[in-house]
Amino acid sequence: LALPLASLALRASLRPSLGPALLFARAAQSSRQNLCTMSDEVAKAQRSGPTGGDTIFGKIIRKEIPAKIVHEDELSLAFHDVNPQAPVHVLLIPKEPIAMHQDVTEADAALMGHLMVVAAKVAKSLDLAEGYRLVVNNGKAGAQSVYHVHVHILGGRQMGWPPG
Ligand code: AMP
Repeated sequence: LALPLASLALRASLRPSLGPALLFARAAQSSRQNLCTMSDEVAKAQRSGPTGGDTIFGKIIRKEIPAKIVHEDELSLAFHDVNPQAPVHVLLIPKEPIAMHQDVTEADAALMGHLMVVAAKVAKSLDLAEGYRLVVNNGKAGAQSVYHVHVHILGGRQMGWPPG
């Protein structure tokens, strides 16, 4: 809400005829539009669940469907998200099809550590030295829509907090 309000306040100072009531109405409308976008993503996650097998990411690993790959090694693959939420939005996945973060066990410690190391390398290769965010969505409440565990690498803009 802060950003729409700031930009409306700026416009209001240029157009003194805009009253405070109109300012707040427009800010509320903009905020509702943001909520709609967010709930579309959440709705998708609500319809998704563990597939017990292959996912779209499995097809990307096997090169059955195209992806803009930025890193590959024997354990992991990183590629640009098809629906980016930031100027840089890359997904980093293990090649092993672990469905959810909550399924990870001690046996996966080295693999999960590997993903953290690769995430740092990928962020560096994408010029994200100013900062970036790593996100792992888990399950319906975590807004996970693809049930092959993955790390979102987001950067190229100022992140907000708290996250949505
Ligand atoms: P999540 O909601 O954490 O499960 O994230 C899944 C992500 O996968 C979303 O950000 C989607 O935009 C992304 N995604 C889905 N299909 C593809 C695809 N074919 N190529 C790249 N990214 C994809």
